[in-house]
Amino acid sequence: MTVQGGLLRLETPGHGHIVDITPGVESVLSTSGVDRGVVTVFATGSTVAITTMEYEPGGVRDLQALLDRLIPSAGEYEHNRRNHDTNAHAHLRAAVIGPSEAIPVVEGRLTLGTWQQVVLIDFDDRPRQRTVTVQVLS
Ligand code: ZN
Repeated sequence: MTVQGGLLRLETPGHGHIVDITPGVESVLSTSGVDRGVVTVFATGSTVAITTMEYEPGGVRDLQALLDRLIPSAGEYEHNRRNHDTNAHAHLRAAVIGPSEAIPVVEGRLTLGTWQQVVLIDFDDRPRQRTVTVQVLS
């Protein structure tokens, strides 16, 4: 097995901001020249997540609203109380969604659906610089 890869670096305003990182992932895959394998996409940090979705304004807003309902930003959170912090909801949302995806590669392409994009969601309650590690396994 060989592993190739690259890093994606981006700045976000936080607060549940969702970024379509599919072009960056495809760029790393294209540079690798791999025809058949797996691409892993991993975001570093405990308040950021990676998933796939249909990236369009309605879907983006609906996902943000769902997570607001499930894990409100205001509430009695132990993380905030013990650490004098304010972003317990961001840690919880990131843990629920997860930090990574693994996407099969067939004939040199990600096996994503037509309306399926790879997205980064930044849940922290302040602007952040994020690093995403993309590895191509073949
Ligand atoms: Zn925290």
